[in-house]
Amino acid sequence: MTAGSFDWDAIQDEAVGFLRDLLRLDTTNPPGNEGPAIAYIQNKLVAAGLQPTIVEGAPGRPSLVVRLPGQGRGPSLLLDSHVDVVPARGEAWTLPPFAGEDRDGNIYGRGALDMKHMTAMSLSVLLSLARNSVPLRGDLVMTAVADEEGGADLGAFYLVKEHPELVTTDYALGEVGGMNMTIQGRRLYPIQVAEKGLCWLKLTVRGEGGHGSMPRHGRSAARNISRLVQILDDLRFPIAPHPAAAGFLEAMASLSSTSQAAALRLVARGIGARTIIDKLVPAAKRPALEAMLSHTCQPTVVEAGSKINVLPTTGTVLADCRTLPGMAPEEMLAAVKKAVGGLATVELVNGHRGHATPQNNPLYQQIVATMARMDPDGVVAPYLMPGFTNGSAYAQLGTRYMGFTPVMLPATIDFASLFHAADERIPIAGFRWGVRTLHDVVTGFLAV
Ligand SMILES: [Zn+2]
Repeated sequence: MTAGSFDWDAIQDEAVGFLRDLLRLDTTNPPGNEGPAIAYIQNKLVAAGLQPTIVEGAPGRPSLVVRLPGQGRGPSLLLDSHVDVVPARGEAWTLPPFAGEDRDGNIYGRGALDMKHMTAMSLSVLLSLARNSVPLRGDLVMTAVADEEGGADLGAFYLVKEHPELVTTDYALGEVGGMNMTIQGRRLYPIQVAEKGLCWLKLTVRGEGGHGSMPRHGRSAARNISRLVQILDDLRFPIAPHPAAAGFLEAMASLSSTSQAAALRLVARGIGARTIIDKLVPAAKRPALEAMLSHTCQPTVVEAGSKINVLPTTGTVLADCRTLPGMAPEEMLAAVKKAVGGLATVELVNGHRGHATPQNNPLYQQIVATMARMDPDGVVAPYLMPGFTNGSAYAQLGTRYMGFTPVMLPATIDFASLFHAADERIPIAGFRWGVRTLHDVVTGFLAV
């Protein structure tokens, strides 16, 4: 079967239908309620003669895995998406968040970009390859999982821990990447090839307890907690551009004005980077840049005392620390312990390493080749994701995971600002383009 013999209109129409149907199923997490969405996907697959496996990370929290066997003569590929979404309650939406309605060429809905679009696209690709009996060199696996928005413990991490035989592949594509930003009229498609790790810490201080009427200058838990929060807030790690971050900044530089480009290139090389970020970069852009270029640690939850006339004897601070690929959570723990000295005890609450896939791999090259055909004016660049995705789970199996869920967006849509926000929407034309693009990447990589 050649690429030209697929009926693209029919495939894209069907995929748009999948997306609308999935958006109409409210999978808000908490509580998740992924069941109806998983059943929907299961029915489509079974109708095409496929045999998906459903596993539950907890009662009522199913995830689906289906495998299209290849000939065992090439690398296998996983297409991953999560079907749960963050709440939309209390937000001001132009169209209701769980109706799958469209206006001005966009389908509105919670999950339109994060990330039921990928569920619909993956389903479309899998069905089309199965129905046409396209021979594959390696296996194609699709997952549609629960609980990513709740931390992924009942979804991707559960699959990796309890059912690795179902989800182990050589490569995987999932969130976040393949959706363009527009710089000076040019489309830049970041492809996530690296992802930061997570290190959540609990710090506990002590202080002299007693009646609130009896002063304890300098010895109270409240005093110690305020010193601790300052130390954590001041904690800065060196700027250390990972190759993925450097590649992204270089691509941005290639699309920017001369003076901006020079500054971006210096930052990409780590030359005077801290000074440039602090002095030249607008305050609104600094957090994203710092997150991409260094380990970070931010105090987020501060608690001490519960009654106005009682001096508490302890206080706690939760800190959200993020590590560049290569640093283990235990190393971050040690660094924070050193910074706070004897002021607090420090415990690890949750953590996992970041991961990175070398950019010069065959799947990345396939993406570049496909994109050159599908959007000849676009620029593709590697990207380091500061947040965490299901990729952290699959990377534990040695999978080369990349963020690529292609959608072509107009300059008026900034995808990052629509994640977890009101009026999350996807342009129908850009989604249809994405269906064909993903199809092309998968067949280019796997088809015999
Ligand atoms: Zn997501």
